[in-house]
Amino acid sequence: MAGSIRLEIVTPEKTVVSEDVQIVMAPGVLGEFGVLIGHTPFLTALKTGAVRYSDSQGGEHMVFVSGGFAEALPQKVTILAESAERRRDIDVERARAALERAQKRLAEQRSKEDFDFARAQAALQRALIRLRITENRLSH
Ligand code: ATP
Repeated sequence: MAGSIRLEIVTPEKTVVSEDVQIVMAPGVLGEFGVLIGHTPFLTALKTGAVRYSDSQGGEHMVFVSGGFAEALPQKVTILAESAERRRDIDVERARAALERAQKRLAEQRSKEDFDFARAQAALQRALIRLRITENRLSH
């Protein structure tokens, strides 16, 4: 397809997306950014969030990513993430359970000296964003 870019979203376990797309939006640490064909090359860390893209037919897709980096080249975007799932592959019950666990941990253990606050916050954030993606109410 003329004018398309290759999007690859890869985790240590698997390739989650490998597709020719029209546009990619991704949650960079400095804010959401968009990549079209011919973009100036750059590299950035990602926040936990959603990568959105339009496929060659114009269909919209959303993929959860956490712990990631993106490399944009003129004809290719590569995202390496610790975890990534397409919206349809997000297990809602699992995310709800993870959210409850994280909330409980934060409420009950935050005053303990060896409590890893950042880790609990990150788990909470992953669960919240997974749920928002499945409910289609993610605002950037
Ligand atoms: P949990 O506590 O439920 O494992 P987590 O946020 O700690 O959640 P991650 O470390 O982000 O999980 O991911 C571990 C693996 O499990 C990854 O392969 C990820 O894609 C998958 N995963 C985690 N939560 C979900 C979910 N709700 N639906 C589908 N896959 C999930």
